[in-house]
Amino acid sequence: MRLVIMGPPGAGKGTQAVVVAASLGIPHISTGDIFRANVSEGTDLGREAKRYMDAGEYVPDSVTNAMVRDRISNDDCRPGFLLDGYPRTLEQVNELDMMLQSDGLQLDRAIELTVNTDEVVERLLKRAQDQGRADDTAEVIRRRLEVYADQTAPLIAVYAERGLLVQVDGMGEVDEVTGRILAAVGA
Ligand code: AMP
Repeated sequence: MRLVIMGPPGAGKGTQAVVVAASLGIPHISTGDIFRANVSEGTDLGREAKRYMDAGEYVPDSVTNAMVRDRISNDDCRPGFLLDGYPRTLEQVNELDMMLQSDGLQLDRAIELTVNTDEVVERLLKRAQDQGRADDTAEVIRRRLEVYADQTAPLIAVYAERGLLVQVDGMGEVDEVTGRILAAVGA
């Protein structure tokens, strides 16, 4: 199964993606996690990405697309994958289409986790305390929500038009939300 999971920062995408991918037996690919790993390792990619991440901006498409292309060409992605945090721009949607089409593949579903914005901000501020992420300060959170609304929310309509969108209520206990997602993708 080839899936993408979308939703505003703090919707619980990362948490859900790990559990859902494990139950489906497919790799969980988080572009944010890959960037953060590169930042900790001090790679060139990490240095480049950090400038954008710390400001709540998106890393340029050219950098992100190349990274995803490389990752999904791995053998472990043959049975499918769950992309978490990608695509985030229309250009990334087109790139992903091309990556898949060149192998005669296509996406099966795009999952949108829906949440109420006040709760999202609260979750992010809590995560800032728990995990100390550099991009979880109030100011950067605000910017990340703006960037999401501006650049990523329009992708929902694109996947809806293609008949791939499933919307899942992201509010509630983690297990409950996981159950809803698995039901929505027909697992
Ligand atoms: P996330 O962990 O998914 O919230 O991602 C953290 C940060 O990594 C984002 O705020 C962006 O700066 C960067 N990032 C992750 N995925 C992408 C993407 N698909 N395109 C551009 N930037 C990304």
